[in-house]
Amino acid sequence: MQFDAELLLLAMAPVFLACIGWEAWHVRRTRPAERLYSWRDTLCNAALALMQQAADKLAWLAIIPVYAFFYEHYRIYTWQASWMSFVVLFIAQDLLYYVFHRCSHRVRWLWAAHVVHHSSKRMNFSTAFRQSLMYPVAGMWLFWIPLAILGFPPKQIVAIVLLNLGFQFFVHTQAIGKLGWLEYVFNTPSIHRVHHARNERYIDRNYAGVLVIWDRLFGSYVEENPHDTPVYGIVEPLHTYNPLKATFHEWASMAADFARVRGWRNKWRALFAPPEWATAYHARQRGVRQTELGTQKVCAQTRVQTQAHTRSHAHPGTEPGNTMSPEIGDQPGLNTNHTTAFRTPRGP
Ligand SMILES: [Zn+2]
Ligand SMILES: [Zn+2]
Repeated sequence: MQFDAELLLLAMAPVFLACIGWEAWHVRRTRPAERLYSWRDTLCNAALALMQQAADKLAWLAIIPVYAFFYEHYRIYTWQASWMSFVVLFIAQDLLYYVFHRCSHRVRWLWAAHVVHHSSKRMNFSTAFRQSLMYPVAGMWLFWIPLAILGFPPKQIVAIVLLNLGFQFFVHTQAIGKLGWLEYVFNTPSIHRVHHARNERYIDRNYAGVLVIWDRLFGSYVEENPHDTPVYGIVEPLHTYNPLKATFHEWASMAADFARVRGWRNKWRALFAPPEWATAYHARQRGVRQTELGTQKVCAQTRVQTQAHTRSHAHPGTEPGNTMSPEIGDQPGLNTNHTTAFRTPRGP
């Protein structure tokens, strides 16, 4: 490739803005009840895009020498500039993008950066701008090192990554329906709407960059169902339009979990297990605490019951000989099995 992809994307900026204008106008005209755009959401997306672009410019300066190192010392082939080499580079990078994107949903360290893209409750062309400046820290660039080993120079790697991301702008829209046979080969608006939805049937599906064949091959493809309208956003909604909070909230939550969980195995999981691991861990911990609290409550009740029982049997007028305390286990509250004891005070 003899062109500069960064300049190409810059040149595409008016096209991106025109698409946003057309979509806002089109949806307001055809589906006036839907508030597809909100100024605050769109401005937040734009701020996130500018922050990410600035961070990316700096990051490439550090990352390109790494690709150059692998290209110089470990490449297994040397490609001549041709259409064939472009096709191989495009397909290989798109497959690696699929791997990166799937990992970004299943490894919390990567999700901490990627969650920014998913945290809006809206889905429109401006959502494509919603990116994280933390991708270089999360390690997105690591996923493209195999391209250098395959024999592609660093500038070509950067160019193909930017082209892939540039294409993905066009799949962030609710204004375009299904696209016939294209749905079998390419990532389309319908396919990517599913990816942004949090409905049970849609969540963590359709990771495609440009080609959807990877989802179909690796079992992560789900078709948009007209009877199950996508509900956009993340499971625990982010109630802010502050781009800094949007960028760092999951990192902060991950750091807090890392500090709070017990044991190094759990600390490792707080960083690298699937994002829902921490929620399940805290639910388990709450369960254990509730069990302990329940047990303490039962023991306290038991003491009261025992004392009352003893007092009632010792009360004047009762049969002599019945002043003994009941045997452990005779009363429900005295059962030493904590599971049973836990159930008792909760009642119906
Ligand atoms: Zn995603
Ligand atoms: Zn997206």
